[in-house]
Amino acid sequence: MPQTLVLNATYEPLGVVSERRALILVLNQRATTIEDSDTVLHYSGGELTLPAVIKLVKFVRIPYRHAVPLSRRALFARDGGRCVYCTAPATSIDHVIPRSRGGAHNWENVVSACHKCNHQKADRTLKEIGWKLKTLPREPAGAAWRILGTGKPDTRWISYLRPFGAEHGVA
Ligand SMILES: [Zn+2]
Repeated sequence: MPQTLVLNATYEPLGVVSERRALILVLNQRATTIEDSDTVLHYSGGELTLPAVIKLVKFVRIPYRHAVPLSRRALFARDGGRCVYCTAPATSIDHVIPRSRGGAHNWENVVSACHKCNHQKADRTLKEIGWKLKTLPREPAGAAWRILGTGKPDTRWISYLRPFGAEHGVA
């Protein structure tokens, strides 16, 4: 089922709805089309292109932002699909402070790593092995991450997700 990315009036990504649901929002003038999809509906009076990206006319306040679930997919997206130590393609999750040394399994203590670095680092801390992180790991922020976690994003969504922290998540 083709889907449409929904942006807040501020262009902040809010989520994903079906193309038909998006079209109804546009026809009811609750949203405007920002990008067309490839789907064209033909009807007796003419034709309509379903939207790939829409923007709400009125700003919607989001009272609470759910935490981004820590998954392998989301972690690799955060770290650009690369080992943070040597930039080889990421194949494993490394705990910066090893779990055996009391390191937590949370966004602040996990990084994408290749098997080689993960194996080499083993149960040592960065200080012990003399490695450094270029950036401190943190939880990715924003709806863009939840959208990325739901499946394969439409390529037309990318430029709208990128400013909201998903710069690595979509290739
Ligand atoms: Zn590596």
